[in-house]
This record gives sequence, structure tokens and C-alpha cells, in this order.
Amino acid sequence: MAAPKKDQATTPTPPPPESGLRYFRDILGQDWVVSHLKTAMLAGRLSHAYLFLGPGGVGKATTARALAAALNCAQPGADGDACGTCPSCRRLHGGTHPDFLVISPEEGKNQIKIEVIRELRRVTEYPPLGGGWRVVLIKPAEALTAQNDAAANALLKTLEEPPPQHLLVLIARGEADLLPTIVSRCHKLAFAPLPSALIIQELESRRSLPRSQAALVAALSGGSLGRALALDPDELLRQRDQVLGDLARLNRGSTGLVLEWAQRLTKNRADLDNFLLLAQLWYRDLLLAHFQAPAGLLAHQDLLTTLEQARASAAPATWFANFAALGKAQRHLQANLNPELTLDILGLRLQRQGNPHDSR
Ligand SMILES: [Zn+2]
Repeated sequence: MAAPKKDQATTPTPPPPESGLRYFRDILGQDWVVSHLKTAMLAGRLSHAYLFLGPGGVGKATTARALAAALNCAQPGADGDACGTCPSCRRLHGGTHPDFLVISPEEGKNQIKIEVIRELRRVTEYPPLGGGWRVVLIKPAEALTAQNDAAANALLKTLEEPPPQHLLVLIARGEADLLPTIVSRCHKLAFAPLPSALIIQELESRRSLPRSQAALVAALSGGSLGRALALDPDELLRQRDQVLGDLARLNRGSTGLVLEWAQRLTKNRADLDNFLLLAQLWYRDLLLAHFQAPAGLLAHQDLLTTLEQARASAAPATWFANFAALGKAQRHLQANLNPELTLDILGLRLQRQGNPHDSR
């Protein structure tokens, strides 16, 4: 069987080799999805197209890879999971499996080119090269829409008449940015954000982080292990200390200082976003401490004494107000309101809350 002629620029490429998680048994915190896929696979009732929905870094692509491994494994276990040692498993692990295709936008772009989808259609006219299943991973599926309806429509044809022994997995954060015609042709599976305790445990074992640092990183990861592993804990601690210093200065400072702070922070959007997240986390911890939540739930486990002192110095109403003001500023920035003006107002709010007797 001859493979279709391939053009280097448009051929769907195998994913780069990755170490670490690659089988169903390695996937963390997505028990329902994994069990659903294994059951469907063993019963021969897999859908021809899946849409994996959920935040980034919670295991969607890993699950697609685990599914490809299980479907092509020469000696799967009784539960259907791949063995990890047969030639198919080894090729998948090495990123050279001919029947696992990943379609993504080119580096630096956010759309998948129509030529790539056309090439995929050509490739799928032929049976899988290894005689098993060809699994095509499209990530992110959002890259198929917007001004790129041509690519989405070309894919629809494959979704409508799936060739035998082919399975498509589309990955997206949510359905809102996808074409309804694509969504309706896929079996949807929702991936949940990972629980904080699980992320802390992984950070402790994989990064050897002390629990106090792991708790802070986990609290900022939004339930994404991928994001948690990508965050630099030392840098995060440095930023956290800077944010707590800023909050203390704002509480006591003059209006001039507030405006100066706003100007400094608006120069770097990443610093600004981090300030808003870290400051909210601080007030969240003050509130949790006030309502006597177990210490294990706190993000700032290395600062229990400081938290206790801060807790004694103001009332929960202040922290609720500050927390709300930070969330409002975040929403204003997401809506592209003027960052400096948003921060001026936020700074003045935080300052006034810190000076309850200030009558200006
Ligand atoms: Zn195997």
C-alpha cells in the first residue's frame, strides 16, 4: 500500500518526543473520562470523533496519546491499556508513530492552514500504515474557526464520512469559539481542573518542592498541572514578596505613591496580571484564616505568622472589599479598559481601605 505523496510544508507532523505521561494509567485526576474511553474501547463502541473540552494542562493531549497507544498496542493489558514496550508503544513514545498525527497551527500562528486539512483528507484515504488505528489530534480546535472557515469546512467532510479505523480527537478550552457544525459531529468529553491537593503532591514528587512553595504554585495554577509545572517557584516567591510589599505601601501611602505604583505596573502586562492574581490570593487567605479554614487550604503556608498579624490588624469587610476591587480591575482589563486608569482607581481603593479613618 503506497502512502500518499507528502509535501514537507503541509504534512501533518508526528508530535515531538516527550517523556513522562503517555498511558491511561499515568493520567491524573480524570478518572471518569479515562474509564469512559476504556469501556467504549473494550466494547468496540468508540466514537469516530471526540471533542475534549477543558482548561489547558489538565491532560487532554496526554489522554489522546494514551488512546492512540491503547488502540495500536500489540499486547494491551486486560483493562485495554497499552503495554509500553511493544514496537507500536515504543514508536509512539519516540514520536515516530506513523498513525498518530498532530495538527496544530504553525509556530507563532493561531490558525490551521486549509492546505494541512486537505493533506489530512488525502492521507486518510489510505488505511493506517501500521494496520491498527490512525488517531488524528487537532489542537487547539479553536484554530479551525474565525477567518478560517475553509479549514473547518474541509474537516467537516472527514467528520461526516469518517474512514474506517480512523479516530479524530479535537481539543478545546470550551465550545463557545467552535463552529456548531463541528461540535455537533463530535462526542464531547469534559476534563475537569485538577484538585489543588493533587497538584501539590505532583509538585512535591516531580519538582521536589517543599509543601509551602507547592501550595502557592498550586493555588496559582488554576487546576492546571501543565501550568503548575511551568511556573518558576523562586520567581513566584519573589513576585509574591513584591506584591505583599506593594500592598503594605499602598495601604499607608500617599496619592502620589499610588499613581507612581500604577504607572510602574502598567509598563508590564505580565507583572500586572500577576499582581492581581497574587493580591487576590492574599486576601483570600486572610478570609480563609479569619473563618478558621484548615491551614492546609492556605496558599501562603510559609507566612502563617504574617497572616495572623495581618488578620488582627483589619476587619474582614476590608478584605472582601479589596478582593472585589481586584476582581473588578481584572475584568476591566480583560475588557480592554485603559490599564493605567484602572490601576489608579484600584490603587486608590486599596489605599482608602487601608486607611479607614482617612476622610479624603
Ligand atoms: Zn504496546
